[in-house]
Amino acid sequence: LVPRMQGFGTTIFAEMSAMAVATGSINLGQGFPDTDGPPAMLEAAIDAIRGGGNQYPPGPGIPELREAVAAQRLDRYGLEFDPATEVFVTVGATEAIAASVMALAGPGDEVIVFEPYYDSYAATIALAGAVRRAVTLRPVQGRFTFDPDELRAAVGPRTRVILVNSPHNPAGTVFTRDELQVIADVCREHDLVAITDEVYEYLTFDDAEHIPLATLEGMRERTVSISSTGKTFSVTGWKTGWVTAPAPYVRAVQTVKQFVTYAVGGPWQRATAYALRNEMPWVEELRKSLQGKRDRLISGLEAAGFETYRPQGTYFVQADIRPLGFTDGMELARALPEKAGVVAIPTQVFYDDAAAGAHFVRFAFCKKDEVIDAAVERLIDLR
Ligand code: PMP
Ligand code: GLN
Repeated sequence: LVPRMQGFGTTIFAEMSAMAVATGSINLGQGFPDTDGPPAMLEAAIDAIRGGGNQYPPGPGIPELREAVAAQRLDRYGLEFDPATEVFVTVGATEAIAASVMALAGPGDEVIVFEPYYDSYAATIALAGAVRRAVTLRPVQGRFTFDPDELRAAVGPRTRVILVNSPHNPAGTVFTRDELQVIADVCREHDLVAITDEVYEYLTFDDAEHIPLATLEGMRERTVSISSTGKTFSVTGWKTGWVTAPAPYVRAVQTVKQFVTYAVGGPWQRATAYALRNEMPWVEELRKSLQGKRDRLISGLEAAGFETYRPQGTYFVQADIRPLGFTDGMELARALPEKAGVVAIPTQVFYDDAAAGAHFVRFAFCKKDEVIDAAVERLIDLR
């Protein structure tokens, strides 16, 4: 293994899911729903296969999907993109993130991330030979946010990119317009490109509103926006995502992506195009149901003695383990399957500042109510 990838080992999601299987634990670790996406969308994929859509699709994605993505960005956010040159299909958001980072940050360039950060960010920045600078999200009145001065201080002469994830996994924060404005000002002042990971764009709760960074003044021309099918339509295994950005950025991302995977499975693309046009009422029901599951899990975790942070979006609750007498989230997460038959993710692996994240574990609530209840029942005896 080349030196720059040493230390990345096996992802925490693979490690903890394997542990869940090996111990027969309830898996509230890796974020995947235990209920399928909209039936007509599943049928659309089957129809595409039966209909012979099984050879290489066009590298940038099938026109039908690129048009559906452009229509979605326009209808929902008022953002206009040319489906022919400004929309590009990838193997999930994961490939979009990797190809964007590798296209836009080279050896020695710096990329700013907000920690805790989704694990693929650190690895793809390392693959690019670039350097990550983490700005820590800290709880302020029950919600994780950043200090604008820390963001400004993280920018240096080699900074090229800011990677922004909102709604944020695992902190659960949906950045407000004011927070986004701080990021936008930094980008414009220092001529940076923003890469935005918006995979939870539809999964927001209460009165939180997802605002794409690209909608802020002067940002459309310097933002590469990313989303995907997996979370919106509960098909995390479909690995179908997309980039919307000005044409020169799309060409840059395409230059990288074409040699990594060339294209994306045609049937998933066809079905995603169908879902983006027809299944938004289903997604609204999913959103509402997830909000209830969030509250259900939080009540249970609080009863078990955790201190929790109520997320404004995503699938996840950050829980502080200190009220239970524990201090090391990694130690607890590794012991939890044996101790309680439940799997969670130690979020300290997503921090450079180990002290800031040591005492958190993340629980997923994208599960059937009875699964959440069973997990809570097992956690009640932890104290
Ligand atoms: N970004 C974040 C913040 C995620 O939580 C995930 C996991 N869904 C991804 C990216 C990866 O998305 P995909 O499965 O579409 O590659
Ligand atoms: N996004 C999922 C999570 O945060 C995991 C995806 C993966 O396994 N890479 O749990």
